[in-house]
Amino acid sequence: MNRYELFLDGRFVPAASGETYDSVNPATGEVVARVARAGREDARRAIHAARRAFDDGSWSDRAPEARRDALLAVADRLSERAGEIAALETADAGLTVRYSSLMVPVAVQQFRQLVEQGAKIPLTESLPHNEFPLPSLNLLAREPWGVATAIVPFNAPFLLTIWKLAPALIMGNTLVVKPSPYTPASAMEIARAFASSDVPPGVVNVLPGGGAEVGEELVASPLVDRVAFTGSTEVGRRIAQLAAATVKKVTLELGGKSANIVLDDADLDAAVPGALWAMFLHSGQTCQAGSRLLLHSSIHDAFIERLVDAVGRMRIGDPASPETDLGPLISPQHLEKAERYVAIGREEGCTVACGGERLTGGGLDRGNFFAPTILTGVRNEMRVAQEEIFGPVLSVIRFSEVEEAIALANDSIYGLSGAVWSRDVTRAMRVARCIKAGTLWVNDYHMIVSSMPFGGYKQSGIGKELGEAGLLEFVRSKALWVDQGRTHRKMWLPVLGLDRILDVTW
Ligand code: NAD
Repeated sequence: MNRYELFLDGRFVPAASGETYDSVNPATGEVVARVARAGREDARRAIHAARRAFDDGSWSDRAPEARRDALLAVADRLSERAGEIAALETADAGLTVRYSSLMVPVAVQQFRQLVEQGAKIPLTESLPHNEFPLPSLNLLAREPWGVATAIVPFNAPFLLTIWKLAPALIMGNTLVVKPSPYTPASAMEIARAFASSDVPPGVVNVLPGGGAEVGEELVASPLVDRVAFTGSTEVGRRIAQLAAATVKKVTLELGGKSANIVLDDADLDAAVPGALWAMFLHSGQTCQAGSRLLLHSSIHDAFIERLVDAVGRMRIGDPASPETDLGPLISPQHLEKAERYVAIGREEGCTVACGGERLTGGGLDRGNFFAPTILTGVRNEMRVAQEEIFGPVLSVIRFSEVEEAIALANDSIYGLSGAVWSRDVTRAMRVARCIKAGTLWVNDYHMIVSSMPFGGYKQSGIGKELGEAGLLEFVRSKALWVDQGRTHRKMWLPVLGLDRILDVTW
């Protein structure tokens, strides 16, 4: 069993309260790690450490290339241990080993790419002007915000920590990370890599175990300059309210109910696997899941038949086994939530084409397993089409006209992502441009690369992660006007009569 303490100011220390808890494997109920449980006091200590590390300039004043080299060395350490970290992510977060062993190396690669790209962003840029006849040198200076905090959800802990940590640090900020209490392990392995690195103490701090109390301190503290939150829309609203008190810069990466639209001319040999991949990756616990499947009437019945047949052949079980296609949900509460939504769907009048219940027996009893579920006959106004379930429950909606599909897709408080499947890419592109969401795939799903900014429209969030846009979220810009001498008369002198009053002749 692993043991993790808080990573605070470069050292591993117990929580101020001395409390610990057990992080358990969602597939087996076995203890994965005994973990220090951070509280508000620890959050304050971590913020102070990050504040001091920022203010002393030991990190923020380093040349970007030096920061880059230190971070690339950390990435190398993570890369060497990628297999181990993937196994831990599987045990702690329930990602199937096939998924985690793909995701962890991809995350390390994205770490490297973000760091390389961030180091090249100019710290100053010259801004020419011709508005006033005054000789001046005008500069845009990019400066780190200062102390950043990263609040991370349970569903992709390693990847989502990297998405915040790499841009925050390469742009010169210091950081406090709060993983989800359900899934602290991979963030603590990142802490280990920093503990033996050339990155100064206090630049990175990690607080496992804390929930809302720690999270709220990381948002509300006046010593924090910048908050990067990924999680539910409900908690995102609370973060925005808390941040308002100190008028703090926040990015919010929130929930979704993304529309996966299959047009009548789609290649079904691609769209059927695409719809399953869009929905059931990590048992539906992905923010961008294609959880509303919009099917054209002409293909609807045959499509459902193929989906149900494929779902019936999925192997559900221990995510550590390479045989397993679908793993567990993170907790008994999430299992109950999936059950509750299927009951709501039945009450609303939709049909359970497959699944719909908790799975037990055959070694599944001690885990949070829910059968992959397809609800048909769903209307867009139903709760199962409007609310994020965050489990393996697909809501299928039928449409007849393309314009109707666009209207249905946009009739949602969310706007995280979506997809369009068609043999006619121009037609699909037109539909994609009409969907109010931050990421759209054409004839694909879930593909996210470090050069493409990711982030939602509407109540799916504010701001972007990844890409140049994501890196720039971690700097603020200062405008500098530097007078270049008295070769020209200051055109503003007469505005206050200063040329007359002070007898200025230059
Ligand atoms: P959550 O909102 O319950 O928790 C997210 C994080 O916030 C956790 O670390 C949690 O401890 C912390 N938290 C909880 N209450 C808080 C408070 N009052 N103040 C500060 N922090 C608080 O989300 P979850 O259940 O861990 O994750 C699932 C959600 O995350 C889904 O809604 C999913 O769509 C979303 N998500 C979004 C993205 C994205 O990029 N848009 C990515 C992954 C997950």
